[in-house]
Amino acid sequence: MAFEGLSERLQNAMAKMRRKGKVSETDVKEMMREVRLALLEADVNFKVVKDFVKTVSDRAVGAEVLESLSPSQQIIKIVSEELTELMGGEQSTIQMAPKAPTVVMMVGLQGAGKTTTAGKLANHLRKTQNKRPMMIAADIYRPAAIQQLETLGEQLDIPVFSMGDQVSPVEIAKQGIQKAKDEHRDFVIIDTAGRLQIDETLMAELSDIKSVANPTEIFLVVDAMTGQEAANVAASFNEQLNITGVILTKLDGDTRGGAALSIRSVTGKPIKFVGQGEKLDALEPFYPDRMANRILGMGDMLSLIEKAQEDFDEKKTEEMAKKIKENSFDFNDFIEQMDQVSNMGPLEDILKMIPGMSNAPGLENLQLDPKDMARMKAIVLSMTPKERENPDLLSQSRRRRIARGSGRPIAEVNRMIKQFNESKKMMSKMSKGNFDGMDGMFGQ
Ligand code: GDP
Repeated sequence: MAFEGLSERLQNAMAKMRRKGKVSETDVKEMMREVRLALLEADVNFKVVKDFVKTVSDRAVGAEVLESLSPSQQIIKIVSEELTELMGGEQSTIQMAPKAPTVVMMVGLQGAGKTTTAGKLANHLRKTQNKRPMMIAADIYRPAAIQQLETLGEQLDIPVFSMGDQVSPVEIAKQGIQKAKDEHRDFVIIDTAGRLQIDETLMAELSDIKSVANPTEIFLVVDAMTGQEAANVAASFNEQLNITGVILTKLDGDTRGGAALSIRSVTGKPIKFVGQGEKLDALEPFYPDRMANRILGMGDMLSLIEKAQEDFDEKKTEEMAKKIKENSFDFNDFIEQMDQVSNMGPLEDILKMIPGMSNAPGLENLQLDPKDMARMKAIVLSMTPKERENPDLLSQSRRRRIARGSGRPIAEVNRMIKQFNESKKMMSKMSKGNFDGMDGMFGQ
């Protein structure tokens, strides 16, 4: 799997923090030393690592973080946000020309996956955006490159324009685009020649194609397995051609992360797509935030934290945290929490955002019945105010009365009270910084 070593090391560094209730500046320093080593080992560009570590450290030792209720969670959030930023922040989508056809030029070194990716991209545009693409075979040097593109076109049933290998690539591009216009195609993808290394003749030819084709997008295809060297290649191509974006291939392989994490900083250009396999549907838009979460093994925990921040009344949440800490959380709080959670939307969607849960077998069949919540509420509402505030009062005879009042079986009342007491115990433990019971949640 891609980024395995990096993920593991970063997660270990984070796990150490999570076990601490209070976090000091020294703890942050210690963690950042490990983060730094993890990134360097993943072949991330040296300067990128240095800047990253500084930004995260500056933010993490801010008073706001160290004095917050859960400093370790805040720091994890900062690392994730900065990793996202490092990879471009927002998702960057494919641009369209004001007037069809939109011309896309594919460039890159030999073997990076340019030709395959041209086919994948055409397929992606047709499938997700209902476009009518055409491909142009302008790599006249690599033996069989034209044939390879034609075969891809046949497999996908997408037309390929070619003129053999005796006509100049500039002429092929020109005539191909004209044909696309005549046929009212909305996308033209030009496959150009690669080389083993960057050389001037190649760059001159690509510049010539660029001037006649007037592309909206120039995508540099790079192999993620080449690590930070991919970022150096990207920088050279960018200098000569002013590329508009990068497509990172072979992310299904054992890549360490250097390419994905260095390219944006080194070139200033976004990664727009990633290739994750040899099959023609193995191309996906690149989402920096999802990639960051994947690296941190966090599922979509951030969306969850953000959602909680959005939906929860901050003051109430603070009060609740205090009660949990003091172990004075009662049934009134329980009802209030339940109402807040139901305001967040369907529970199964929320559960999927919890790390380790997104792929949990059977989750897709999990039905969380709103009726269950209504039943629990009925039980709590059948308690007297005193009983709600002090669950220790709940003797067997009181429980029988509650069962009658709520119309629920006594066994259900007992079960709910037991669960309440257990969660209360666990919450109180966790609030004191003991996360032992939670390890499973982080997929460890
Ligand atoms: P080009 O010289 O840049 O045009 O490279 P090709 O398109 O011929 O690809 C080189 C090799 O990489 C081929 O064997 C492709 O099947 C393979 N390849 C391309 N993209 C991916 C990818 O995302 N994952 C994997 N595993 N292989 C890929």
